[in-house]
Amino acid sequence: MRDAANEHSPRPLAQRLALYATLGAGLGLVTCVAVPAKENAPSPMQSVLAAGGADLPDTSIPPARAPADHIPLAIPVSADSADSPNAQSGSSPPALADAAADEPLHEVFWTAHEKLSLDALAIAWGVKAAQLSELNPELDRGAPVTEGTKLLVYRHDPEHPPQSIGSPNRGKLRNGMPLPEGPGWRLRTHRPRTYGTVNTIRALVDAFEDFGERFPDGPKIRVGELARRSGGRVPPHRSHRSGRDIDIGYIFHGIDDGEHRWKYMNVRNFDAEKNWALVQELLDTDQVQTIYIAKKLQKLLHKEAQKHLPPEQLAALFEYPKTSESPHAKIQHWRGHSNHMHVRFQCESGNRRCSARSK
Ligand SMILES: [Zn+2]
Repeated sequence: MRDAANEHSPRPLAQRLALYATLGAGLGLVTCVAVPAKENAPSPMQSVLAAGGADLPDTSIPPARAPADHIPLAIPVSADSADSPNAQSGSSPPALADAAADEPLHEVFWTAHEKLSLDALAIAWGVKAAQLSELNPELDRGAPVTEGTKLLVYRHDPEHPPQSIGSPNRGKLRNGMPLPEGPGWRLRTHRPRTYGTVNTIRALVDAFEDFGERFPDGPKIRVGELARRSGGRVPPHRSHRSGRDIDIGYIFHGIDDGEHRWKYMNVRNFDAEKNWALVQELLDTDQVQTIYIAKKLQKLLHKEAQKHLPPEQLAALFEYPKTSESPHAKIQHWRGHSNHMHVRFQCESGNRRCSARSK
């Protein structure tokens, strides 16, 4: 694997947010035509394999609030969290709650994609209208919010930090943190299922930004569903309940038409180089538990990864081709993932209520 641990010096977060403020408004209009891909539960064998591992428009309108002084995601990813997912139950608060308490305010802003009432935006974004109103007191609840207005949708509360509870298939999420907008990725306009744990969101932002730096001309990463703000069922998914799962569109050859619909991948349209780069950036966060990719696409990715990794690392990383290490590989096959990858992040360090198992 690329020795990226040392390359991963995160840029100052205030600078990062300033970048969002500047570039976020430059995102192309997202066509909200996403069709959630049907995800089938893994077969018993897949569950065994996976256990331990698993299952805007542009505008010149100034923001309602200038977010540049705020730091949205400043919670450090603890170095010892990589191997710490556990399935114990208990009531200890997550260590992240403490980590967060030491950090400055964490805030996430989203941009109104069209002129809408605060109530309509609250529905589109999965936030309670009263909450949105409280976070943005300068807004008149009765008046429509102008297209392009940036609204505060999340402020970290050390008393009530995000917390993943239980397993991805049966658990829930408390006080989920929304994935921020960013220049290198696309969120849908409908966002009630865009919430996760702090380390999930932080890792995604890091990976997406690094990918964006490698490929500044795009394509933008198409973000699918994460979890609801309070977790729980997210039909038709079996998982996505505890804030640690996300669906991401594969990078494909050809023109990016700005659509959000998943594309089925084959040897012709699968951009192995860029998909490998994306997977590599995700893995470099050291927060990934498992990435689910259809076996036929793993084969293409494996071929690309051979250019970068020695055989023993490849064997530890890919389920494909079957070796003695396959059951423990980070990249696993899961039926239904020929048109998007599913990334599962680890439990937060110290969160004893989070379960690494699928069910
Ligand atoms: Zn998924």
